[in-house]
Amino acid sequence: TRWFTPVAAEVRPADLNTGVPHPARMYDYYLGGKENFPADRETAEQAIAAFPNTRNAARQNRAFLVRVVRHLVGEVGIRQFLDIGTGIPTSPNLHEVAQGIAPDTRVVYADNDPIVLAHARALLASTAQGRTAYLDADIRDPERILASAELRDTLDLTKPVALSLIAIFHFIDDVDDPYGIVRRLVDALPSGSYLALTNATGDHDPTFEPAAETYRRRGVTMRLRNRAEVERFFDGLELSDPGVQVVHRWRPDTTTEDLTDAQVSVYGAIARKP
Ligand code: SAH
Repeated sequence: TRWFTPVAAEVRPADLNTGVPHPARMYDYYLGGKENFPADRETAEQAIAAFPNTRNAARQNRAFLVRVVRHLVGEVGIRQFLDIGTGIPTSPNLHEVAQGIAPDTRVVYADNDPIVLAHARALLASTAQGRTAYLDADIRDPERILASAELRDTLDLTKPVALSLIAIFHFIDDVDDPYGIVRRLVDALPSGSYLALTNATGDHDPTFEPAAETYRRRGVTMRLRNRAEVERFFDGLELSDPGVQVVHRWRPDTTTEDLTDAQVSVYGAIARKP
């Protein structure tokens, strides 16, 4: 069926641009994955040297994503997700968490990195009752995402959708109008929909900004945002308790390690569209 169209064979090695570091592959390296190349590892190690908490930050961000999905599916009753900036498949993936609770959950994934596309098959292993789709797209073109057949054929936009934008906006600079992008996407969703978003921050550890500079030197955007800048993403929406938090403080569970704000340095929240 059409939901299985993106295949690794469509990605030529040249497209992967392995000589330059890519955020998805660096993040995969922080999480202990194997889908990364020397340029990614080298830049990741530089970032870790400058900001030793990089790995904690990545892992706690991922753990937040899992807790948010459990909450939205298990407690709020959400059955549809639009996840932009999906990353290289990492177990458990969003649809696995969601469909583990509600097998009929539908998920549209989108990312602009060819290596994520190359691994999309792992994201498309949906339950029979649910559905997943993958879209090769840039969040800076929200209209294309909203108009795509992958989204239109998978999600019912008359029913609530959780828009998950986890660890993507620190790769979006101010010139690309990050708040406008979120507004456009949220505008397309009905009342009762949710926004879940995280963004790295330099508020708690003065070494993070110099670490971000190592990304920029290699041509990768890294826009840390302070609390007010992260809160602004949720303007016009109803923040769910406990509001914007460093992610390990957001509805912690028994698996949340005992970490400081500086060690985590990622803000996150979810909010409901009224
Ligand atoms: N959401 C996942 C992965 C975060 S890594 C998680 O939190 O665990 C960030 C991802 O955002 C990478 O896969 C990267 O390729 C993607 N990304 C960065 N800029 C993007 C853009 N402009 N459009 C779409 N995806 C983007």
